[in-house]
Amino acid sequence: MDSYDKLYINGEWVKPSKGDSFPAIDPSDESVVARVGAASAEDIDAAVKAAREAFDHGPWPRLRGRERGGYLRRIAEGIRARLDHLAALEVRDNGKPLPEAVWDIEDTAGCFDFYAELAERSDAVPERSVELSMEGFVSKAVKEPVGVVAAITPWNFPMLMASWKVAPAIAAGCTIVLKPSEVTSLTALELADICHEAGLPPGVVNIVTGMGKEAGAPLAEHPLVNKVAFTGSVPTGSRLMQVAAQDIKNISLELGGKSPLIIFDDCDLEAAVEWLMFGIFWNKGEVCSATSRVLIQENLYPRLLERLVEESRKLRIGNGMEEGVLLGPLVNAAQYEKVTGAIEAGKRAGATLAYGGSRPAGFDRGYFLEPAIFVDVPVESELWREEIFGPVVAIRRFVTEEEAVSLANDSEYGLAGAVMSKDLERCERVARNLEAGIIWINCSQPTFVEAPWGGYKKSGIGRELGEWGYENYFETKQITSYVSDKPWGWFIK
Ligand code: NAD
Repeated sequence: MDSYDKLYINGEWVKPSKGDSFPAIDPSDESVVARVGAASAEDIDAAVKAAREAFDHGPWPRLRGRERGGYLRRIAEGIRARLDHLAALEVRDNGKPLPEAVWDIEDTAGCFDFYAELAERSDAVPERSVELSMEGFVSKAVKEPVGVVAAITPWNFPMLMASWKVAPAIAAGCTIVLKPSEVTSLTALELADICHEAGLPPGVVNIVTGMGKEAGAPLAEHPLVNKVAFTGSVPTGSRLMQVAAQDIKNISLELGGKSPLIIFDDCDLEAAVEWLMFGIFWNKGEVCSATSRVLIQENLYPRLLERLVEESRKLRIGNGMEEGVLLGPLVNAAQYEKVTGAIEAGKRAGATLAYGGSRPAGFDRGYFLEPAIFVDVPVESELWREEIFGPVVAIRRFVTEEEAVSLANDSEYGLAGAVMSKDLERCERVARNLEAGIIWINCSQPTFVEAPWGGYKKSGIGRELGEWGYENYFETKQITSYVSDKPWGWFIK
C-alpha cells in the first residue's frame, strides 16, 4: 500500500467523512511515516451498518465452515506474501526489533490458519445433543455466531492483536469492525487490503482508524453491535464495560498486568538470567504479560543480580531495523514520559536503581531508553504495583515459597506469572497457587495460538486464542423437542 489515509468500509476504501488525519510517527527518529485517516462517529456508523447488513443479509454467516476456512487460509497466504514489508512497517510504526516483528507477522498468519482449521472442523460437529433427566424430550445445543463484533486493539503487537480478534470472529461467521490503536495503525490497514485481495464479501471485515474518544467510543456504544472485544488498558476496559452494560452487550477484555516471576535458589543461573531478561526486555517491555516483578530466593540473589546487570549493559539499543538490536525505542513520546516518570517515582519511593533507566549516550532523537533494574522495591510503591509498560524491572528477594507466592498474589492484576526451579513438583504447586490466567514454568512469555490467553482479577474477562478464543464469538442455543406419543396432560387432563 502506498497511502494509509482512507478507511476500509463495506469492501471499499473511503475518505474519512470529516477529511481528518493524524501522523504515524517512527519512534526511532520522530519522523512522519504516513498520514492516517481519522474516523468520526459518522464513519463508525457506516462501518457498523455495513457489518450489520453483511451479517443479517449477506452470505457470510450462512457459508459452510469449510468455505469460511478457505477465505481465512487465503488471508494467511496474503500475510505471508507481504511478510518482509509488514515486518519492516511494524518496526517503523512501533519501534520493535525486526526479528520480533517477523515473529509477530508469522504468528499473525498462523492465527488465521489456526482458526481456518477450527471453522473447517466445525462442519463435522455443528451441534451437541444434551442428555435430559426427563423422558419424552430430546434436546440439542447449537452454536451460532454472535453477530456484529466491535474490536478495539492496542499498539504493542499491532497486527497480531488484530488477528487475535478478526480471525476467530470471522471464522465463527461473525462480521467485524476493527479500530486499531491510533499509535500504530498501518499494519491493520494492510490487513484490510489483504482481506480485500482474499475476496471477502463486502462488510465482513471493516477497518477504521482513529482516536479512542472519537472512533473507539462510538464503535463500542453503537446499538447495532452485539459484542465488544477489547485489548488495552484497565481504565479503558473499565469504561467499555460500563458502556456494554447499557445494552447488555457481550464483552471480552484483555487488559494489563504486573506479572511476577519467582526464581528459586536451585535454578540454573544462566537460564534464570536469560528468561528474566526476555520476560521484561523483549518488545521493550511493552508487553501485557511482561514479568515485571521478579522475586529471587536469597542464596541465588547476589550472583543473579550481578549477571543480570552484566548482561543488561551488553543489550544492544538502537533502531529495530539494525542487525543485533534487542531493545528498540519506546513507542512514542507519551509512553517515554510515562516510563521515565515511573522510574523517577520509583527512586523517590525508596527503590534502589541497580542499573540503567537513562537515555543512552549517542541518541539525541527517538524514544530510546536503557533497561532499568530496580532492587529492594517497596511493596507499597507504584513501581511494584502498577503496570509501567516499558523495560523496567522491579526485584525483591524472598526466603520461603509461601512468602514468594503471597507477594506474587498481592496484586490487583492477574494476567500471567512464572516460576523457575529444578524441583518440578514445586513448580507445579506454585503454578496452581498463583492467581493468574497464564503460568510459565522454567520460562517466561512464549505464547501459542492453541493455548488459552487471558487474565484473572483486573487483567480481564474471557479468554482469547485456542478453542476458548473461538467460543467468544458464538451464542449457544438449545433446541428442545417434545417427542412423546402421549399428550403432555398438565392443563388438559
Ligand atoms: P489504551 O486503553 O489506551 O488503548 C487501547 C485501545 O482503546 C486503542 O485503540 C484506543 O484508541 C482505544 N480507546 C481509548 N479510549 C477509548 C474509549 N474511550 N472508548 C473506546 N476505545 C478507546 O491501551 P494502549 O495504551 O493502547 O495499550 C496498552 C495496554 O494494553 C496495556 O495496559 C497492556 O497491558 C494492554 N494489553 C493487554 C493485552 C492482553 O492480552 N491482556 C495485550 C496487549 C496489550
